[in-house]
Amino acid sequence: MDLCIVDHPLVAHKLTTLRDERTDSPTFRRLTEELVTLLAYEATRGVRVAPVTVQTPVGAAEGVKLAPPRPLVVPILRAGLGMLEGMTRLMPTAEVGFVGMVRDEQTLVASTYAERLPDDLSGRQCYVLDPMLATGGTLAEAVRFLVRRGADHITCICLLAAPEGIDRITALLQDLEVPCTLVTAAVDERLDERGYIVPGLGDAGDRLYGVV
Ligand code: URA
Repeated sequence: MDLCIVDHPLVAHKLTTLRDERTDSPTFRRLTEELVTLLAYEATRGVRVAPVTVQTPVGAAEGVKLAPPRPLVVPILRAGLGMLEGMTRLMPTAEVGFVGMVRDEQTLVASTYAERLPDDLSGRQCYVLDPMLATGGTLAEAVRFLVRRGADHITCICLLAAPEGIDRITALLQDLEVPCTLVTAAVDERLDERGYIVPGLGDAGDRLYGVV
């Protein structure tokens, strides 16, 4: 798995405010969207385009447009939903599919409890949204799920990642036959004993949507 840490002052600025425990949910949601749009700019660097010619008022111009099939954006429920708007703002013609993943707290094995995705993802570029790459099990399972459906190019966008999660997902996906990239705003120090990223930003789902 390739790793891209987006090093940009605006990314760092927004991430710092997200981390701040005094940031309320409405501000947290807005900043998450803005941060994802910035990360998406890097994450879509490899999006496939096809050449086109357009007529300007002055003459013909060679350009590009997104090539079919349309890219698929996949937020992982629940917290990934908070990243969707920021992603589709940059790539409004993308399709959106949903995956709900849950981790068995005993075995730590992630499984899919809900999905709304095309049956056939052959030739599709997929952008998986999950704010926190902590242990890495859930994200790895989501990537495998998309590859089983035929996706041939996967980019994961996370606000934050833990070194343990990056190591684990790299190991879990080492036999993957499709290119996979992780784009994140920062790699933090470590995971704590509860599996939270330190210093992180707390529980991303709770901070976006409140505790349920
Ligand atoms: N999920 C979160 O929301 N926060 C963490 O720190 C780890 C996993």
